[in-house]
Amino acid sequence: MEYQSTRSNYTLDSKSAVLAGIAPDGGLFVHPDIGSLGFDASLAVTLPTLKIMEYVISTLLPDFKDIPSLVSQAFEGKFETPDLTPLVKAGDNYVLELFRGPTSAFKDVALSLLPVLIRHAGAKDTVTVLTATSGDTGKAALEGFHDVPGTRIVVFYPHGGVSEIQKAQMVTQQGSNVHVCAVRGNFDNCQTGVKKAFADLASRGLSSANSINIGRLVPQIVYYFSAYRDLIARGVITFGDKVDFVVPTGNFGDILAGYYALLLGLPVGRLVCASNENKILDDFLKTGVYDKRRPFFRTDSPSMDILVSSNLERLLFLAGGKTTVKVRQWMESLGRDGIFRVDDETLRAISDVFVSGHATREMTAEAIRMAWEKAGYLCDPHTAVAWHVAQQYKTESKTGNPVVILSTASPYKFPQAVLGALGRDTAGVGEFEMMRILNAITGVPVPKNLASLEGRPARFDTVIDIGEITPYVESVLNG
Ligand SMILES: *Cc1c(COP(=O)(O)O)cnc(C)c1O
Repeated sequence: MEYQSTRSNYTLDSKSAVLAGIAPDGGLFVHPDIGSLGFDASLAVTLPTLKIMEYVISTLLPDFKDIPSLVSQAFEGKFETPDLTPLVKAGDNYVLELFRGPTSAFKDVALSLLPVLIRHAGAKDTVTVLTATSGDTGKAALEGFHDVPGTRIVVFYPHGGVSEIQKAQMVTQQGSNVHVCAVRGNFDNCQTGVKKAFADLASRGLSSANSINIGRLVPQIVYYFSAYRDLIARGVITFGDKVDFVVPTGNFGDILAGYYALLLGLPVGRLVCASNENKILDDFLKTGVYDKRRPFFRTDSPSMDILVSSNLERLLFLAGGKTTVKVRQWMESLGRDGIFRVDDETLRAISDVFVSGHATREMTAEAIRMAWEKAGYLCDPHTAVAWHVAQQYKTESKTGNPVVILSTASPYKFPQAVLGALGRDTAGVGEFEMMRILNAITGVPVPKNLASLEGRPARFDTVIDIGEITPYVESVLNG
């Protein structure tokens, strides 16, 4: 099957697209006609989750062999429940819990599969995966790639820029092919340094675990089907009824997977894009103007603190008439002037499906408190942004469709923000102690993978300057 770049007629088969990650022209790999692949959505919603996974992968990444075996290697026994992503009822909302994987982050769904795909994509030499992380991606990638034959992984995180728990998750990582390194600077500096390393060391077999990789997007489509299946099982809907999904959004990967589910035939009503104070996507979806010339806010939902949402480019291609010329112009304009505006036709096509909202820091804290007090549901701050936007959406839209909120992290990864929202003073309290306090007041169990980090010895303590990233990667490559 041919994947093409969003910016030119460059094409690759699905295996090579997974290995390459990004096209040489800077575009992302897309299949131009997902609706024509013969996928039967009414069949998919009768299957167990791992069978849906096999069906979606064999449809979208058909060049891989032995897909059932790949799926079992990736997921068997790694998640808290065999259906990976349980749907729970909380008040009058349904919450799709995506954080029941090995690192308590929704990134686990995709990063459990990607290493297996890379290993079986047929690279001749060892593939070295470089990742800059603001916290969650790094650990999920380490957990996915550790001890996978034919791969190595190097993670860079900002020194002093991640939470105590996130740091403990990374520096205690086991495995003989993993490297973790702190960088003096912020996340953007790390990312710039890593991009430079890619350029400096091109042709040395480097790859990325970033969410632009089509191999990361594909497994995320599955939980839209499993949520729909679970709503049928609960007697809430029958096949054909529309369901709306509210998605806490950063790089636009999670919500784009919902659009792919729709293109594959799932009766999706609206996809509601929820932003924090960095509400560039909310503004774009309302006006058609994407303008990154604005202040950047550090919020309590750091995985959504993003001003350039890479995966939006795929939507621009698919909804914008599939013309690479337009996408290239928009992306050039963004790079040159920090802004682009889509034409009315494209905006209309996008607005048929996507709506949006945002939550400030105060609204997020209020949502954590309301969800707990009124619905008995403990949200992390990312999920709380979506919870707030869902309440607003339900009042305004009146579609009457069932609403599913995607929940992207365990509240125990962000105990300070959650305890603060519940009115507790956390000054001078360590994060592991905060986890115990949160557990004592709510009774919600602490995920084992997080509780067991306390007191575990660190394996990595290297701290480098930004300019030392390329030499560090070289030493790993030569080591
Ligand atoms: C990555 C992440 C998001 C954003 O998902 P995108 O696919 O980047 O839009 C939201 N919440 C959490 C906890 C995340 O880790």
